[in-house]
Amino acid sequence: MSTLAIPAFNAFRLTQSTFCIIEHSDVYDEHPYIYLKFLNDSTVLILDTGCGGKTMKPDIALTSLREFIETVEIADNGGRPLNESGKKGYIVVLSHCHYDHILGIKDFTSDSQIIVSGHCPEFNSGSNLPEHSLCLSLGIETPEYTPTFVANRYTLQALDGNVNVLHTPGHTPDELALWDEGDHMLFVGDTLYEWSPIIFPSEGSLVAWFETVKTLLDLVEPYANAQISCGHVTAGRPAKEVLLGAKTFMEDVVRGTIKPERTFEKRGEENIYCIRGDQRFSLICPTRLVGEVRQRAKMEWGSA
Ligand SMILES: [Zn+2]
Repeated sequence: MSTLAIPAFNAFRLTQSTFCIIEHSDVYDEHPYIYLKFLNDSTVLILDTGCGGKTMKPDIALTSLREFIETVEIADNGGRPLNESGKKGYIVVLSHCHYDHILGIKDFTSDSQIIVSGHCPEFNSGSNLPEHSLCLSLGIETPEYTPTFVANRYTLQALDGNVNVLHTPGHTPDELALWDEGDHMLFVGDTLYEWSPIIFPSEGSLVAWFETVKTLLDLVEPYANAQISCGHVTAGRPAKEVLLGAKTFMEDVVRGTIKPERTFEKRGEENIYCIRGDQRFSLICPTRLVGEVRQRAKMEWGSA
């Protein structure tokens, strides 16, 4: 019998240069999708770091994302670890500061640049991070790291085409997306995904979300083969079709065509849960955020 430690992660190839790493058994039931891209011969880009390997499964013994990347043999990578023996350095990008994207950051804080959206730096300040990461409400320790805040359209250079950082507020003010010019791959974090509720915290904005989705649709429009990869569930799917599907669903919620299945209290305010008939898109968000979009629409129609 092999005595190899069972890892909290598995990985599969998404494109020639990119792998999707799934933290499959976390205690929070988030199953976050982490992405790894080879930028060049010396640097690996990591998008998000998952939940820190915390699991209730007793047979999982390898819980460090970095150890997984540097030591675990991956079939889709010719049977070799993704970054064997840590020969390449890392640039870590955080799609936003929610706990299920930052709890694995401790593996990288000592020697790697950590890129965060510069749209709203105070959202990530040391005093705000415990609340905004949701670590405070979960009663878990907030990781400490020093972010490099970057401007909209900040560019990371890669051998097969650059990777652009886009400010995409909506899910949170600090949500960002990555556009891989070489692969025509759009990484959107928690802005949207399929088959699991798209969740907005109290700090989210549905008004900003609609603007973000319009920007992303304009971005992928010229590329019929553009794909989308998300922070959960959805990876390597047709970008335009998924973006349009999520947008139409949200419009149906705002118009009242899709009505809430239930309402409940969360972090001190009323939230709604809505789901489309085929269950592909669903939503959990404060009722207030839907009201803000309706108010905005009324103002725009009024001035037309
Ligand atoms: Zn999130």
